[in-house]
Amino acid sequence: MKYEAVIGLEVHAQLQTNTKIFCGCETAFGEEANTRTCPVCIGMPGVLPVLNRKAIEYIIKTGLATNCRINAYSRFARKNYFYPDLPKGYQISQYELPVCEHGFVEIVVDGAVKRIGLTRIHLEEDAGKNLHTSESGASLVDLNRAGTPLMEIVSEPDIRTPDEAAEYLKKVRSILRYIEVSDADMEKGNFRCDINVSLRPVGAKEFGTRAEVKNVNSFKFVQKALEYEIKRQAQVLDEGGKVIQETRLFDSNKGVTFSMRSKEEAHDYRYFPEPDLVPVATAEEVIENIRKTIPELPDAKRERFVREHGLPEYDADMLTQSRAMAAYFEETVKLAGQPKVVSNWMMGELWRLLNADNKEIENSPVKPERLAGMIRLIDAGTISTKIAKTVFDEMYKSGKDAETVVKEQGLTQVSDTGAIEQIISDVVKANPGQHADYKAGKEKLFGFFVGQVMKASKGKANPEMVNELLKKKLSE
Ligand code: ADP
Ligand code: MG
Ligand code: ZN
Repeated sequence: MKYEAVIGLEVHAQLQTNTKIFCGCETAFGEEANTRTCPVCIGMPGVLPVLNRKAIEYIIKTGLATNCRINAYSRFARKNYFYPDLPKGYQISQYELPVCEHGFVEIVVDGAVKRIGLTRIHLEEDAGKNLHTSESGASLVDLNRAGTPLMEIVSEPDIRTPDEAAEYLKKVRSILRYIEVSDADMEKGNFRCDINVSLRPVGAKEFGTRAEVKNVNSFKFVQKALEYEIKRQAQVLDEGGKVIQETRLFDSNKGVTFSMRSKEEAHDYRYFPEPDLVPVATAEEVIENIRKTIPELPDAKRERFVREHGLPEYDADMLTQSRAMAAYFEETVKLAGQPKVVSNWMMGELWRLLNADNKEIENSPVKPERLAGMIRLIDAGTISTKIAKTVFDEMYKSGKDAETVVKEQGLTQVSDTGAIEQIISDVVKANPGQHADYKAGKEKLFGFFVGQVMKASKGKANPEMVNELLKKKLSE
């Protein structure tokens, strides 16, 4: 590849306020069409918007969590365009003087920390939805979503690869969830992404002409759309052509992007200050109070998990992606110690079962006390690690604690020397040929005998004792 990609992302995140940004209507998802509307959000003449205080609090919180400067004054602007889902004929957004500017988030690229700059974060209202029904042949408009508060997070063109883009989005999503300002759920459409990408010859300073791909709605599609767009632009340049500045869409079925329209310029929108809203002045004291509500963020938590619990970077990264996950981990460690063991159980059995069930850790049938209880049974030698997998599955299915499962299913590990010796003696007697071969030097057969003994004990024999007693017996 003789080109380098330059990527900047615009994320639209829906704020989790109870009501809309400029009226008292409930923000609701999946309700009957046009039942969450009022004269303000359907754009009746003469109505006046009133700013939702929570929306301002949430965006300031986001700015603080992403190292932004919070502007002492910010102001709203009208962005004018005509589309049936925009009843006023303009969207109230911010243009000059957004709430937050000049921030950054950090991602890990090839083991090194990389900063992705944030140009700005501003507030705006969402539009409604057009529904093109096939039955009636008509197009319908649902305004339930009109006026839902959105935050637009604009990155600097600091991203260089599709993988970095995915890491960046994951980090932003994780921060928004940690600070509880947005569900940031791409599937539900409350975390949407526009991607801007251009190519330049490796080593060049100047940026190339970019294409913008609108509304890509999953992490996988962001990567796929970028990969496609990079290939497409490289081909255009290789053939001596020019990339056109345009807006494109991604077709997720075909895995391709296609042209939607030539790129609009800011002047096309005829931005001007919103005369119906006063500028927002934010006192230093208000900002400081919001700062106090910010919890430990994912990066700090990840570093602490490595430092305090001795976890490998990878584990720490995985376990801090959500606050609930990190809390589950720390609660279990508090009860059972052994951070790495806890991490293995969480990232192994627990995630496998939760994934299969499409469940979040908050709804795990196995709570931290129960996982800790099971780990203590392993420590005490009551069950082997192998049997523990069966126990864990059963705990997950039945909601019972480890001791009950072990008792009910007779899974207690056999650590009684006499009983194990008996099994070993039976197994050796039953396989005289292998025994002779072993003694003649075929040491590999040791594994065979271990397997037979474990099988005969239904997996319950204490593996360490089996090893030791078997060695003795076989050399007789
Ligand atoms: P608009 O609002 O018209 O889309 P902006 O100037 O706000 O334009 O930029 C939007 C995004 O495009 C930002 O994330 C920015 O980093 C990115 N961007 C700007 N120039 C380029 C470029 N040459 N190549 C790739 N991304 C770019
Ligand atoms: Mg854009
Ligand atoms: Zn309303």
